Amino acid sequence: MTEPAAPARKRSWQTARVVAIETLTPRIKGFHFTLPDAPAFVAGQHMDVRLVAPDGYEAQRSYSIASAPEHAERIELAIERLDDGEVSAFFHDVVQVGDEIELRGPLGGHFVWSVRDGGPVLLIGGGSGVVPLMSMVRHRAAQASTVPVTLVTSARTAADLIYLDELRRLDANGDGFTLKARVTREAATASDLDAGRIDRPLLESVLDEMAEPSFIFVCGSNPFVGTVADLLLDLGLPPGRIRTERYGG
Ligand SMILES: Cc1cc2nc3c(=O)[nH]c(=O)nc-3n(C[C@H](O)[C@H](O)[C@H](O)COP(=O)(O)OP(=O)(O)OC[C@H]3O[C@@H](n4cnc5c(N)ncnc54)[C@H](O)[C@@H]3O)c2cc1C
Repeated sequence: MTEPAAPARKRSWQTARVVAIETLTPRIKGFHFTLPDAPAFVAGQHMDVRLVAPDGYEAQRSYSIASAPEHAERIELAIERLDDGEVSAFFHDVVQVGDEIELRGPLGGHFVWSVRDGGPVLLIGGGSGVVPLMSMVRHRAAQASTVPVTLVTSARTAADLIYLDELRRLDANGDGFTLKARVTREAATASDLDAGRIDRPLLESVLDEMAEPSFIFVCGSNPFVGTVADLLLDLGLPPGRIRTERYGG
């Protein structure tokens, strides 16, 4: 299994402007930024955010880019509110359209995919872990690619599934993109989605339905990534094909 090997090359800080804020789920907001020097990036990369208080106290966090590289002039970050979270709560409670925020990036050269890399590709995201996978899916759509890509995701309820409507539309195109979304705390009858976690039977059925994946990207909290990566290894997938991004927790 491959995890980031070395720190990504650092770039300089830029003052970005918040041009739109969207409520994506009850806990996740999308923040759209314009930057003076729009960074070319590859789907899967992230940006660093730096907040500086008037007394000089600094907090820095990483956030994956949700938007497609084809639209680098306006970068979307999707931030999940953690109840006791310092930076995520600031974004949710304080940041307004028109504010200036320091951003640096793009960063990360390991958890990236481009249509040129080919496939099949299996993407597995938990909660806000779908964010970098969304950039890959949007990049594939922007390139009108037919590379087979399956995205497996789960959240507590349908309302907590980030980008669900957009992902459903892409799935309905029938061009090789497949969405497998599950809900863990809602009866199957409450929505048209399957109930249950991302478990071994689900991954077995996903793998049965697709050609053997050349690339597998797993992203989410530490426990989510650990559990899914162990399941994939147990199912006999080669470690070298599995790339992981851990958000913490
Ligand atoms: C490469 C990378 C990309 C990331 N991309 C995103 C993204 O696209 N969207 C996003 O919302 N977050 C993302 N994160 C996580 C993000 O950087 C912060 O860690 C997160 O927002 C928490 O910061 P905070 O200041 O709000 O919480 P903190 O004040 O740092 O922590 C508050 C509490 O929450 C716990 N905690 C921290 N992170 C998590 C977590 N992920 N899950 C559960 N508990 C946690 C801490 O242990 C602590 O107890 C990414 C992390 C990395 C490394």
